[in-house]
Order: sequence, then C-alpha cells, then structure tokens
Amino acid sequence: MDVLNKEQRHYNMSQIRSGNTKPEIIVRKYLWKNGFRYRLHRKDLPGKPDIVLSKYQTVIFVNGCFWHMHKCKNFFMPATNTDFWREKLSANKLRDKKNYQKLKKMGWHVITIWECRLNSKKEQLLQKICNELTALLQ
Ligand SMILES: [Zn+2]
Repeated sequence: MDVLNKEQRHYNMSQIRSGNTKPEIIVRKYLWKNGFRYRLHRKDLPGKPDIVLSKYQTVIFVNGCFWHMHKCKNFFMPATNTDFWREKLSANKLRDKKNYQKLKKMGWHVITIWECRLNSKKEQLLQKICNELTALLQ
C-alpha cells in the first residue's frame, strides 16, 4: 500500500513537472544540462534578474511578451481598461530599460529571452546563448 502510494505520488509529481513549461524553467533546464550554474532572482541586483550567472558576469531575463510589451503577435492591448493597461505596461517597459542600463553600468552582460522565442526553434536560440556565454570567458 505504501509503495503504491509512493508510486502514485511520483506519477503525480512527474505529471506536474512535465506540464511545467514555464519559459524560465525551459531556459534554466537547458543551461543546467549544459553545465552552467546560476542563482535565481537575486534581489540585490536591479530588476531581480531571473537567472544570474556570476562566473560569466551575466544576467538573463526571461520575459513574457504580454507583461513586457514585446512587439510580436503575442502582445495585445486589452480592450477593456485600456488606459490602465497602457500605463501599467508602459511603466513595466520603462522599468526594464532602466534596470538593463543599471546592470550594464555595473558591468553585467544582459541577455533578454522572449517567451515567444522559446518555440520549436528554442534549441537553436539556447545553444546560441550557451555559445555566447562560453565566449565571454575567452
Ligand atoms: Zn514575443
């Protein structure tokens, strides 16, 4: 009975895990698999970057297209409360820009990954980022 429960639990967890396709998780898993080690959401850095690779002096932001107003087909301006959203999202975008500038001034290399780029071609994109990171140490 105990074993069954355990197995069942394992099954449930694997189901949850496989269903977890949050863009940030995709990036983290790929980096980890390729030997890159990082810290998450460092509060002491501007914008609390999603992924911080200290060894490479690099931060990665994995941005949702809606919240960060990406100019792509994923973005839409909500039809209701439009003024509120326009203001809120514009503020997000401005804050992003300021944070990136601050980080760059502090000597960080800033990489932004858009949610919409983590599509069927994500392997290529992530490989490119791994190459970029490796090149930073050379
Ligand atoms: Zn996008």
